[in-house]
Amino acid sequence: MMPSAFETLPTSCDILIIGAGPAGAIAALLAAKKGFDTVLVDRAAFPRNKVCGCSLTQRGVNQLQSAGIAEILDDAAHISRIRLITAHRSASISIPPYRVISRELLDTRIATAATSAGAKLLTNTSALVHTNCVNLTRNNQSELCTPRCIIIADGISGTSLRDHPAFAWTIAPASRMGLGATLSKSPIPLEPNELAMIVRDDGYIGLVKLPGSTIDLAAAADPASVRAAGGPAAWLIAAFTQLAGDCTQLAKTRIHGTPLLTRKRNRVAHENIFLIGDAAAYVEPFTGEGMTWALETGTQIIDFAAKIITNKLLPSQATPTAQAWQAHYNHSLAPKHRNCERVATSVRSPLRHAALSLASIAPSLASSIAARVLRVREVPA
Ligand SMILES: Cc1cc2nc3c(=O)[nH]c(=O)nc-3n(C[C@H](O)[C@H](O)[C@H](O)COP(=O)(O)OP(=O)(O)OC[C@H]3O[C@@H](n4cnc5c(N)ncnc54)[C@H](O)[C@@H]3O)c2cc1C
Repeated sequence: MMPSAFETLPTSCDILIIGAGPAGAIAALLAAKKGFDTVLVDRAAFPRNKVCGCSLTQRGVNQLQSAGIAEILDDAAHISRIRLITAHRSASISIPPYRVISRELLDTRIATAATSAGAKLLTNTSALVHTNCVNLTRNNQSELCTPRCIIIADGISGTSLRDHPAFAWTIAPASRMGLGATLSKSPIPLEPNELAMIVRDDGYIGLVKLPGSTIDLAAAADPASVRAAGGPAAWLIAAFTQLAGDCTQLAKTRIHGTPLLTRKRNRVAHENIFLIGDAAAYVEPFTGEGMTWALETGTQIIDFAAKIITNKLLPSQATPTAQAWQAHYNHSLAPKHRNCERVATSVRSPLRHAALSLASIAPSLASSIAARVLRVREVPA
C-alpha cells in the first residue's frame, strides 16, 4: 500500500527528486537515509504501470541489495532462458538470470521504502523546472519550491525540463517506439522461466510471465511499420498471426505506446540540476538494462548531491560538481549505452544477428549460441 500523499506542497528542501520510477525512488531512499530533507514528486497516481519488459538484471538486483531492500524482489519470478522466435525458426538459449516483477509492484515498493526512510512522497504532482527553482502543481494548488539540489528522474516522457533548452534531447533518426500491454493469456505458448522474444525486421516483442498469472508484453517497433499496419494493436496482431498465435485478447486490450526511444540529452547536469535514469538517455530495451541503469545512476548521484547539500553550495557554486557528474556519467554509463546500441543495431537483422548480439553480451554463452543457433538455426536467405 502507498503511504498517503503529503497535504502541503513544500517551498524548500535539501533535495527535490522529480519522477518516482526506479531512478528517482532509489535516489530518494538513499538521500533520506543520509538524513537529507528529501521530497520525491511524481505526476502520476501510484501505483502506476509503465511500458516495460519487467526483467531486471543481476546488476539491478545488486543495487537493490546494496540499498537494503533486496526483499522487495522476494516474490519476483526468475528467468534463465530466452526463446528467440522468427517467422520461420525458434531457438531456446540459456541466459544470465533476470528477475521479473510488474512495474506497479517494483516502483511502488521502492517509493514506499523511500518514505519509510523519511522521504516525503507527493504523487499526482507535476513539476516544472525554472532557473534554480521548481514549480509544483497538484490539482489547483501550485507552489514554487527552491531546493538545494534538483534531481531529474522523469523518464523519456518527462516534462519537467520543458522550458530548459540547455537540456534538449537529441533523438536518433531511426529510433523505435515502445509498445506495451498486460494480458491474462499469452498469444503464443510461454514457459514460466523464459523470455519469448519475437524478432522481426521492423522490431521485436518480448513476453514474460509476471508473478501471479498475468503476461507482460513489451515491444520496440519501427514507427513507420506501426503506422502502415494501422496502429500498435494491428502491428502486434500481424506479428502474432504470422506465428499462428491467438490474438483474441490482444484485439481487445489497450496497447500503450511511448515516445521515440533512442535519445540522449545535450548534457546531464547544470549547476544544481542533475539528470539520472531515462531522463538522461535511453537506447533500446533488447538487453533489458534500462531499470539497471536507472538504479545505478539513482544510487551514484547521491554522493554528488551530498556535496552540494552538506557544503550549502549556491547553484552558481555547484558548477564543478555538475561537471564532475557529467564526467562520471560519460565514463560509467556511455560505454554501456554504446554496447546496447551495438546490440540493438545488429538485432535489426534476422535471428542470426540476434543470436550474435546475445553472444556479445553473454560471451560465456557464445559457443553454445553459435552451436545451437547460428549454425543449426540460421534463417534462410
Ligand atoms: C518496450 C520497453 C521495454 C522495456 N523493457 C525493459 C526490461 O525488460 N528491463 C529493463 O530493465 N528495462 C526495460 N525498459 C526500460 C525501463 O522501462 C526504463 O529504463 C526505466 O523505467 C527507467 O526508469 P526511470 O526511473 O528513469 O524512469 P521512469 O520509470 O520512466 O519514471 C519516470 C517517472 O517520472 C514521472 N514524471 C514524468 N514527468 C514528470 C513531471 N513533469 N513531474 C513529475 N513527475 C513526472 C512519470 O510519471 C514516471 O513515474 C523497457 C522500456 C521499454 C519502452
